[in-house]
Amino acid sequence: MYTGEAGNLSTHKEFIAGENTRSRNLALFTESMVSFLSSKNSHQAFMDLVSLMGQTFPLAAPALYIESPGFPGRVFTMLEPGGGGEHEAEKVFGKKHYSYEKVLVGGHPPIARLRKDYSIMNTTGARVTLCINSGIHDEIFREWVKILTPAVAKLMDHELLMHMAYRDGLTGLFNYRAFDEMLRAEEDRSSRYRTNFSLMMIDIDHFKRVNDGYGHPIGDMVLKALAEKLGQCVRRSDRVFRYGGEEFAIILPHTGLEKARKLAERIRTTVERMSFIGGLQITISIGISQYSDGVTPGDLVKRADMGLYLAKNRGRNMVGTVEDSI
Ligand code: GH3
Ligand code: MG
Ligand code: MG
Repeated sequence: MYTGEAGNLSTHKEFIAGENTRSRNLALFTESMVSFLSSKNSHQAFMDLVSLMGQTFPLAAPALYIESPGFPGRVFTMLEPGGGGEHEAEKVFGKKHYSYEKVLVGGHPPIARLRKDYSIMNTTGARVTLCINSGIHDEIFREWVKILTPAVAKLMDHELLMHMAYRDGLTGLFNYRAFDEMLRAEEDRSSRYRTNFSLMMIDIDHFKRVNDGYGHPIGDMVLKALAEKLGQCVRRSDRVFRYGGEEFAIILPHTGLEKARKLAERIRTTVERMSFIGGLQITISIGISQYSDGVTPGDLVKRADMGLYLAKNRGRNMVGTVEDSI
């Protein structure tokens, strides 16, 4: 009789403990979903997710690997690059280019032990994998991944659509629509925080001759190679756009006219020395303008265009600003 009562009590305790674990997990899953779906972009969403997983189970040292065909891979991880993080990433991406985001969580940096993979998503469009130190709440992570799958799929779809809407198909650069929006956003930021920025408009000289002499497909290859070179010439915070046809634009945050002019000169000479397919060479003309209080995005484009017009008029393969005409 006595034993029986004790048995009932312990079953009851286990039941309560089980309920507590279930409701704690449910709260955790709900919190991760709410944060994931309300993040302002996919980068933030993945950072937040790894951060929440890492804060809850630091020893698991969670890492997310995102692979989408045609794009560089992405890693969001609690591991230090030298603490096993890079080694782990290379197992996924090999020698291919990828971006590495170390997610900061308080306490000692975790170490990579025997790792276990959970596939969150695996389609032709994208592969998203969670990787943790095996043996740390494997069961919870398995459940968590199941719950996350539809939200991650939705986010990846959205990312792809945004990419298609804001990128130029030939060069992969941001397109005119993105330029229009980002220029307005930069103007807004600069007027609010009283910082400056510059705009650069680049136009290939006599590009019609390239098409006429070598054919349109070669012209396209030149545009692609030039786009790639422009991306290599600027800082990470600068934004390069295909403005249209054989014209490109670069927004340079926190950059005054003189620094922009120096960069423009460097770009101009770099392109002048480039050798494209079949030894083909081109030159470019560049116009620059600088933001100052009260200047509208439209004015800024007009002024950079006037600089470009001057550069063309004075013989091409030059950098021009409106100030040069005075
Ligand atoms: P300028 O020095 O005055 O800029 O001379 P230009 O020949 O570069 O200028 P123009 O505006 O007369 O011609 C631009 C050429 O760029 C014409 C067009 O065929 C070519 N072009 C525009 N977009 C593309 C494209 O996507 N691919 C290729 N291959 N050519 C393009
Ligand atoms: Mg043009
Ligand atoms: Mg041109």
